Amino acid sequence: MKFYLATSFIFPRSLRMRIFFLCFVATHVPLLTYTVWGLATGRIAAAAFWLLLTATAVGTVLALLGIGALLAPIEKLADALDTQDEEEGGEGAVDLSRAQDLIQRLYNGVHRARRSTDKTIRDLDVAANEDMLTGILNRRGFMKKVNALPASQRHGCFAILDIDHFKRVNDEMGHDEGDRVLRALAGRLSEQTRRADIVARWGGEEFVVFFNGVIETEACWALERIAWRMQGDPIGRIDDRPITFSGGVCRWVEGDLTGSLTHADEALYEAKRNGRDQVCTAVALTPAR
Ligand code: GH3
Ligand code: MG
Ligand code: MG
Repeated sequence: MKFYLATSFIFPRSLRMRIFFLCFVATHVPLLTYTVWGLATGRIAAAAFWLLLTATAVGTVLALLGIGALLAPIEKLADALDTQDEEEGGEGAVDLSRAQDLIQRLYNGVHRARRSTDKTIRDLDVAANEDMLTGILNRRGFMKKVNALPASQRHGCFAILDIDHFKRVNDEMGHDEGDRVLRALAGRLSEQTRRADIVARWGGEEFVVFFNGVIETEACWALERIAWRMQGDPIGRIDDRPITFSGGVCRWVEGDLTGSLTHADEALYEAKRNGRDQVCTAVALTPAR
């Protein structure tokens, strides 16, 4: 390291040129020695001098070309790290397994680190947007997906749903049963909505659905169907009665996303106040079922 730093004033921006320079000096030592000795003793032979000069020039060219080629993998690595080129970091990496030297170790090590970093970033991205318990999107993932909708799809209805008396599931049947009920409702919502709709866990025992391109009545019908099936095929029971949910629906047309969600939340609380097991819409705040 000391030598590396001490020589950094020679071509400070190019390792290749620095090595070239050192090789150039090193390959000329025999010629220089012969010339100095020959001049000092007067025994210099023209033929020997020219032969040595030619051999030195050939040696220099070979050294320069060889060093350039040997440094190529390192330059490629530096380029890959600079540009964060996907192909360099992924499957496109050159197979250097035949070589067993420092460069091979460095090359493979950097690519391994690169692949593992890419995978970690992908995993973190999934974890940041996904609810671990239910496997559906979490609130962050929901907002990201809604915000990413193309302009043509930025209208529909938000529904915020809350399981009624859910605390009693936990208190009376245990937390594991509570978790199972949450997973079951997440499954029902995902299965019984369309591919274009977006379902997420809003937090705790609350879920949110974006019904793509529909008006309030259609969103309420969809929720009605889900609620009706939960009567025939319950996801769980409280006091031997099928578990129900309350919901608040608000229309969203391109623009105030947070405002629509807040109104859906207000409608949900209206549904709770009205006696639960029903869906209210934000406009009139009247029960829809
Ligand atoms: P309401 O009808 O008014 O909504 O009553 P509730 O009992 O459903 O609502 P409350 O807010 O009193 O209770 C919600 C409970 O949800 C409390 C909390 O312990 C539980 N909960 C939140 N997250 C989880 C979870 O991930 N797993 C389980 N098992 N329970 C959870
Ligand atoms: Mg709640
Ligand atoms: Mg609840």
